[in-house]
Amino acid sequence: MLKGRTLVVATAHGKEKAIAPLLESRMNIRCIVPAAFPSDSLGTFTGEIERALTPLDAAREKCKMALDATGYSLAVASEGSFGPHPTIPFMPCDDELLVLMDTEHDFEIAVRELSTETNFATEDIHQLDALHTFAERVGFPSHALILRATYTDGRKETIEKGIQSEEKLHELFTAFLKQGASVRAETDMRAHFNPTRMKVIEKAALRLVERMESECPKCTTPGFGIVRYLPGLPCGFCGMPTASSMYAEKGCVKCDYSEREAFPHGKQEEDPMYCAFCNP
Ligand SMILES: [Zn+2]
Ligand SMILES: [Zn+2]
Repeated sequence: MLKGRTLVVATAHGKEKAIAPLLESRMNIRCIVPAAFPSDSLGTFTGEIERALTPLDAAREKCKMALDATGYSLAVASEGSFGPHPTIPFMPCDDELLVLMDTEHDFEIAVRELSTETNFATEDIHQLDALHTFAERVGFPSHALILRATYTDGRKETIEKGIQSEEKLHELFTAFLKQGASVRAETDMRAHFNPTRMKVIEKAALRLVERMESECPKCTTPGFGIVRYLPGLPCGFCGMPTASSMYAEKGCVKCDYSEREAFPHGKQEEDPMYCAFCNP
């Protein structure tokens, strides 16, 4: 279904470097990048343009824009979100979503890579020393910084992005202080300014390739894989069902075929510690 086709990588931020080589070598497709792709129109990390769509809808929208702009029928887009980890308190994480859209065969495949490998951070900075410490901690200058200056007298805030040199950082920071601004330093999370993020996108691309290599046994559409886990793993002491996974349900991205795999985590019974009857 995909062999020999052209895949449009919907990015303006050099993400094709993380995505294209893997997909070209493993999937036997040709990757192209649309000229001047306006992905920032869907929102920016720094908030000048609000991100109104969910990450999934934003990635879909990018795919559609790329297909409209080029006339092809196969596109991939990524959408990153940064913030606290959903289950580990105070741990920043990079949540990368990759969506592959095929309008010729009418299906899409979405994969997600949740990683704690990120330099994502922001800090209010009052002194040059603190700025240095922050910069060092987040991997500057190989990772770019953003300085955001806000004013109490109603002047519009100023955002300087993609700062990659010590001189520029000093110059902007001292100028902002002179203007009476409050300064916040932020990591620049745009992929081409953030090698750590680029690596996470590469991992997401690997996940996508692995998913694409798995075909639906019924209709042969690529992307067959786990869609959800079903609870009910029996307790090892009393045998009652627990909240732990008993089955993994694999599904097709196009037809309604699905199958269940028992004991997806290799365990046939759960520790009574996690049993609502033995350990209420
Ligand atoms: Zn029990
Ligand atoms: Zn199918």
